[in-house]
Formats: sequence, structure tokens, C-alpha cells
Amino acid sequence: MIIVLTPHSSDDQIRHVEDNVRQLGYEPHVIRGVVRTVIAAVGDETTQRSLEILAGLPMVEKVIPIQKRYKLVSREASAETTRVRVGPHEIGGPVFHVMAGPCSVESREQTLSTARAVAKAGATFLRGGAFKPRTSPYDFQGLGNEALDILREAREATGLPVVSEVIRETDLPHMADTVDILQIGARNALNYSLLEAVASAHKPVLLKRGSSSTVEEWLLAAEYLAKNGNPNVILCERGIRTFEKATRNTLDLSAVALAKLECNLPVIVDPSHAAGRHDLIKALSCAAIAVGADGLIVEVHEHPEEACSDGPQQLTHDQFSDLMQAIQPFVVAAGRRLTITKTP
Ligand code: PEP
Ligand code: MN
Repeated sequence: MIIVLTPHSSDDQIRHVEDNVRQLGYEPHVIRGVVRTVIAAVGDETTQRSLEILAGLPMVEKVIPIQKRYKLVSREASAETTRVRVGPHEIGGPVFHVMAGPCSVESREQTLSTARAVAKAGATFLRGGAFKPRTSPYDFQGLGNEALDILREAREATGLPVVSEVIRETDLPHMADTVDILQIGARNALNYSLLEAVASAHKPVLLKRGSSSTVEEWLLAAEYLAKNGNPNVILCERGIRTFEKATRNTLDLSAVALAKLECNLPVIVDPSHAAGRHDLIKALSCAAIAVGADGLIVEVHEHPEEACSDGPQQLTHDQFSDLMQAIQPFVVAAGRRLTITKTP
């Protein structure tokens, strides 16, 4: 950390700050300028108390961090991308994974039909919400535990591992048997007690970026999971809230490229919640592959116009199959490959 003192600080004031730096367990190095003095504090910020508290001293103008606040998930900690293993699959390796399925599990028939369709088209994971975090309390809230039974059956029928969102800690024991990847949704992206509880479940986690989270907040949320013993985290960019109303959210592809640069975790993109409309999914998917994403998560419904949630952004079975064909050359150009899973 660099501590910048107010202009023309006296020797006593400089000494006072040095003493405080030492008390916090760091070694101060004073650099005197004509107007300003700065103190470089050397020490390990992961084990000592933060020096940010010194910003409260009257002779301190600002405290500037030098080290990144996320450690375990940073590229500095590991230059290699973490490969998250789920059953026979590895996310973050040479295979580009497409997770697909309905926004919500609405019925056995609906889920099985879509699970079979996406498996046939080449998806490697089935997504489906059992517990839905809806903006309005009057909207469909998900079938809950009944949906978990349906997802289990769909997994058995297709062999696709299941991704589903956890919205509260008390659901974790029920979800553990069925769900292969626990999704933390955008609305819970900064719910630190839920992140800690999910870390303890020792299952891979798909961590969405909050719709108003900075990249640093997103990576620090991942750091919560890693610090609490779960390094098997897949980041997911799903669009952020901006002034633009033409799309549901704004897909932040810079954040994908940046996360790939700064962080050792795989990063996937959710074009469905970013766009909020089905006719942009193909373009956004191709763009996501081009900036280095490790996979996609896409919403698919047999009859989107009848969906209980997120109808306008869901692809039909045929549209999903087209998408899988359309992304193929982009996946190859990015040095990756798709695995086409056979249906039983
Ligand atoms: C979802 O995946 O259906 C969902 C609710 O996503 P998000 O948390 O990104 O809004
Ligand atoms: Mn949805």
C-alpha cells in the first residue's frame, strides 16, 4: 500500500503515520517530496490488517492499494486456467462447453423434451431453475423440490450433468443429490453468507456477475468461494445494468476478456439474460467465443411463448440446434472444440 500524506506534513506527523504502519505489522519506507511525503508500506496484506484504516488519520490524504485484493483466483497465484471437473467434463480446458435448458423447470414433459433436444444438438450440461429468484413476488417462483426430482430424471435420461440455481442455504441439502453445478444468480452475487455456505457444499459453482457488480466485486465473490475451500468456480458474465433499454442488460464482453486476463478461473457467457431477446443470442454467442469465453449458458424452451419465465429470450429447440451449428467455426477459430453428446 502507498500512503499519501497531506501537503507539507511535519516530521512529527510523518513519524506518527510510520508508527501506525509498524503497529499494523508493516514496514514503512518514507519517500519525501518537495510538497508531499508518501510512505510505502511493505507486508503481506492477506495475513495483516488492512492499512486502509489509516485513511482516517488527519494527515493522510489517501491510501492506495498496490496488490490486487483477490489472491487465490488471480493469474498471479496460478498462470494456468483452473479446470473445473464435473463428471466426465472439464470446463476451462480445450472443450468449449454449452449449457442449455429452460429458464425454469415447469413440468416433467417440458424438461425432458428440452433436455433431450439440447443433448442431441450438442449441449454438455442441462440448465434448469428449480428455485426462481423473481423480481416480482407474484411471478412464478419455481417448482422447488419437485423440480429437483424432474432434473434428476432428465439427467438420467440424457446423461447431462445439471446446473441449477441455489437461492438459499437451507435448500442445499436437497440440491446436493441432484445438482452437479450450483449456480449463484446475479441477485445473490454479493450474498457473502450464501457464498460461504455454497463453498462448504464442495460442489462446482457457477458464479454469475451481479447486474451492478464491478469486475473486482465479481472476482472477490469468487475469492470468497476459493478462500472457503472451493476453488471449483466458473465465472459467468450475464450482462450488467446500463442506461440502454433496447436490451434487457448490456453484455460486458470487456469484462470477459479482463476476467480471463486477471483471474485463473474459467469464464462463460450467458447471452440469454444479457440480451433478453432470442434474436441476439447467436451474435452474442459468437462474440463471446471470440473474446475467449470457455463456454455458454443458453435458455431453451420447446414453446417459449408459453414459458413461465423469461419467454422472450428462450430459443426453440430448432433455434438452439442452429446456434450449435453457427458457433462451430468460431469455436474452432478460438482453438477449442465442441463435444457432441449422443442421446441414449
Ligand atoms: C437464470 O439463470 O435463470 C437467472 C435468474 O439468471 P440471473 O441470475 O443471471 O438473472
Ligand atoms: Mn432466466
